[in-house]
Amino acid sequence: MAPIIDMHTHLFNALDIPMEGYLISRRIERKRPCDLEYIINFFGPHMFHYLTERMRDRCVTRQLGGGKIGWYYSMLLCTFGWYMGQDMKSWESALTQTVRHNAADLMETWDNVDLFVPLVLDFEYWFKNTIDLSVDKQIDIMYRDVIVSQGGKFHAFVPFDPARELSFRNGLNNPDGQKETVSSLELVKTAIEKKGFIGIKLYNSLGYKPIGNGKEKAALYHQRVAVRNDKTSFLFDGRLYDQVLCELYAYCEKNGVPITAHCMMNGIEAYPNASSHFGAAELWKPVLEEYKGLRLNLAHFGWNPVSGRNYGHRQNWMKTICRMMLDYKNLYTDVAHHDVVTHGHRTDFIKAYKNIQRDYSYGLDRIRKKILYGSDWHVLRRLKNFRSFMKQYIRVMQKSGFYTDDDLNDFLGRNAMMFLGLIPGGKNRARLKKFYGDHNIDQPKWFRESEKTDDS
Ligand SMILES: [Zn+2]
Repeated sequence: MAPIIDMHTHLFNALDIPMEGYLISRRIERKRPCDLEYIINFFGPHMFHYLTERMRDRCVTRQLGGGKIGWYYSMLLCTFGWYMGQDMKSWESALTQTVRHNAADLMETWDNVDLFVPLVLDFEYWFKNTIDLSVDKQIDIMYRDVIVSQGGKFHAFVPFDPARELSFRNGLNNPDGQKETVSSLELVKTAIEKKGFIGIKLYNSLGYKPIGNGKEKAALYHQRVAVRNDKTSFLFDGRLYDQVLCELYAYCEKNGVPITAHCMMNGIEAYPNASSHFGAAELWKPVLEEYKGLRLNLAHFGWNPVSGRNYGHRQNWMKTICRMMLDYKNLYTDVAHHDVVTHGHRTDFIKAYKNIQRDYSYGLDRIRKKILYGSDWHVLRRLKNFRSFMKQYIRVMQKSGFYTDDDLNDFLGRNAMMFLGLIPGGKNRARLKKFYGDHNIDQPKWFRESEKTDDS
């Protein structure tokens, strides 16, 4: 039996990311003053500032045993939640507790998962700034408080940010006003080689394409991000982004390090619709052509959460990703954040998987080996019934006929073992073996048992 692997989770809190800047970046320009969205955006910056400050404050006070929530703050969260149709109090709770607590909550939520893969994020250079915990400290906390202390239950992905790398190389100050001392590339290498991390997280919708940033139109998009989010001092030549990204791809290909790239619409992005300009699935084609050994996961299956824009819609990349998975043998996709816990949306996914079987009958066996289970817990927690995510996703796969009971294990873990390079002979497996030895960690059951799988 293959292990169950949740390929896509997060454990960060409000001190780890520029929350206010992100919320402000979502503002929509040129709305009519009578629109509800205009009114919310008009008051938004004040509300976002207040919410962010309260969350950051609670991150500290909760650790001291206090941090009561207060009626005004509580009312704002409920109002915000009512507008979004989501449980913002639960979301706030995850954003104000320690990474260690979030890890414990995650294990309690899905106690049948053998391995969780938390993705650490690095948003500092892209959104309006709030002083945050530096990314190298976040990596150390993940290493010490989660990876080592949970002994093989968690192995994280480390973020790479081309802007941080360029800032370091040019001797610039970071957004917190201190000299940038962290080389993003060195951070990645140390985390992979010494700290039990097993992959890289990229976030193109922040404002850089996988490659081709030197083109004229890309330069205009970069400018738009910089002006809008108050980041003009970090506006680098697009060819320089390409240069450092290619160094990363070459390192990953040579050392068997997989990459997960955010790939959905309306998620976290530099401005509304930035995902299409920087992170569309097909923008990855030239990278996959050039680096044939690179294993890539386009996260969220290119999903568009806007209702009506399902599989096959022009603004939905699921179909493109299916096509690309047949063309590129090292391309994978995960299903994180898909709202299968809400009845109406679940039927959309059942339909989507039925349509994939219709459109790609000739390549289905290959596509079935490329889809990875992932939850995006922490974002998902805003949804009612989020605990039933795994159960409901299995139901979607069974009802659509996409996986039989026998090959559901591929979806739940075996495909991830391939993607992660954890099968016998995989470079990540060799690194983890050494890591467990160096840290006196007993090899976890999923690791020992996979030694005997037929994949060897
Ligand atoms: Zn995510």
